[in-house]
Amino acid sequence: MSYLFTPPAVVSVPVVGRAERFPVNRIYCVGRNYEEHAKEMGFTGREPPFFFMKPANAIVVINPGETGTIPYPSLTKNFHHEIELVAAIGTGGKNIKAADAMKHIFGYAVGLDMTRRDLQGEMKKAGRPWCIGKAFDHSAPIGHITPAAQAGDIVNAELAVQVNGADRQRSNVSKLIWNMAETIEHLSAAWELQPGDLIYTGTPEGVNAVVSGDTMVGSVAGLISITVKVV
Ligand code: MN
Repeated sequence: MSYLFTPPAVVSVPVVGRAERFPVNRIYCVGRNYEEHAKEMGFTGREPPFFFMKPANAIVVINPGETGTIPYPSLTKNFHHEIELVAAIGTGGKNIKAADAMKHIFGYAVGLDMTRRDLQGEMKKAGRPWCIGKAFDHSAPIGHITPAAQAGDIVNAELAVQVNGADRQRSNVSKLIWNMAETIEHLSAAWELQPGDLIYTGTPEGVNAVVSGDTMVGSVAGLISITVKVV
């Protein structure tokens, strides 16, 4: 087979303890999935889960022990961090029930759902898609994936992000409004999940801006932390 031009490389994420990398297919993100974050965004109460997506090539792999970099993106004056637990789907399926959902998860990673908040806000206000606020280049830093069996008590894990050494977001995965099993049930009713899909499960309260020169340290207990500098 020949192509008109060189096709882009497969985006992939290293796996802890394995030579094989996890090839990334789709990136799903859950909106407003922690109550205190929903409140800070001007919403209250439990609403049905909703989803948006990022392209796979928004991934920036952050290696353990290294400071990765992302560029300050164009067009925005309000570039926000959102620390998130990322679930990596190993086995696909449609209409997966919550009771069966967790076995579809291959492993977990620490992710940042970087957001051009001002542009997202303008789009929300106009009733337009969020893509420009969420799905831009380098908007999905992620750490190495820890296989589920080695990830400990992930559903009760503390997650946090510090900026220049000071806490910005700190919460616990147990506070997800829609837990991972329920999220997979809803997602797989709308899309047939496929191996390689990533789910950014949502962010807790404390989202805030970073500027060039800031360094973020993102962590989820039991997983490999990430250090990301905005340049
Ligand atoms: Mn998010």
